[in-house]
Amino acid sequence: MHNRLFTPGPTEVRPEILKELSTPQIHHRAPEFSALYAEIQPKLQRLLYTENPVFLFTSSSTGAMEAAVTNLVAKRCLNLVNGAFSKRWHEITAGNGVPCDAFEVEWNIAIKPEMVDEQLKTGKYDAVTLVLNETSTGMMNPVAEIAEVVKRYPDVFLLVDAVSGMAGVKIETDAWGIDFVLAGVQKAFALPAGLAVAAVSERALERAKTVPPRSYYFNLTNMYKYHQKNQTPSTPAIPHLFALNAQLDDFLAEGLEERFARHERMARIVQDWAKEHFDIYPEEGYWSKTLTCVKNTRGISVKELIDRLVNDYHVRISNGYGAIKEKTFRIAHMGDTQPDEILGLLAAIEEVLGL
Ligand SMILES: *Cc1c(COP(=O)(O)O)cnc(C)c1O
Repeated sequence: MHNRLFTPGPTEVRPEILKELSTPQIHHRAPEFSALYAEIQPKLQRLLYTENPVFLFTSSSTGAMEAAVTNLVAKRCLNLVNGAFSKRWHEITAGNGVPCDAFEVEWNIAIKPEMVDEQLKTGKYDAVTLVLNETSTGMMNPVAEIAEVVKRYPDVFLLVDAVSGMAGVKIETDAWGIDFVLAGVQKAFALPAGLAVAAVSERALERAKTVPPRSYYFNLTNMYKYHQKNQTPSTPAIPHLFALNAQLDDFLAEGLEERFARHERMARIVQDWAKEHFDIYPEEGYWSKTLTCVKNTRGISVKELIDRLVNDYHVRISNGYGAIKEKTFRIAHMGDTQPDEILGLLAAIEEVLGL
């Protein structure tokens, strides 16, 4: 029996969307592919509040994170770190031989605009990486406010990992001035894993032309060349694109504002529940709208809870990440999940724990 996913990626995919993956295949150099690509493009631009091109990566999110730092850093990159994924972005940057420094704060503390200002004042950097929603800690960093600070430094590009936020919360790419914003589709998009998207600013594309290429597969200049023909440089995950196209139609049918409001509503339900029975891991004011990282104040066995939920209820939540594995557990409330499903999950947890 299928175990319904309440994990912060991969997330549950609706059967109607799974069916789209089995659409008869088309050739990626045929006009019908370009038509599909051209159909998807404006829908992604609406979702991201941007007029920038939105590229499609046949990879998980990590590939798009790698594309950002290998193409868009000419001088030195500042990696803002307050969780596992922001830390990984620093490792990706360093691992590709891109000059960089990590600025790290405690994992339960949000990155604040003043911290970023302090770092950028040094004049050392021409790019900064920031994770919108730290999936490891259930923390939402104040991207809009940080973007205001970054704007004061005209040579500094803002690169945002919005993996577990995009399609669940509003991201005003152009208004905030984000140069690169990426997400894999297995989180709030509620699609199967294996595809990532990223909106890239015009000035980012200009800089990419001047940075010596560090990657062949993740080459933004080349991707843009093909983008103008409504194509991708290599064979893309065509089945995914059928599913993405259908899913974007469903987002727009639900209404973007309504979709974001549903995520807020589910977040409130889980946060209220967590405050009543446990506590919430990150500092207040920065709680994620798409997942909640519950602090295990009762000292329960997280592993046992997860096993019981799977065996007895066929639902799966996630344990804590890395160092906070048994100290926390994570409930995702993102994608196509509905409030009534969240209430059912919480009732199951209460029954298992005898709350
Ligand atoms: C899941 C996740 C990633 C890594 O995604 P992959 O698709 O596994 O490469 C990166 N950043 C954040 C914030 C994530 O939630």
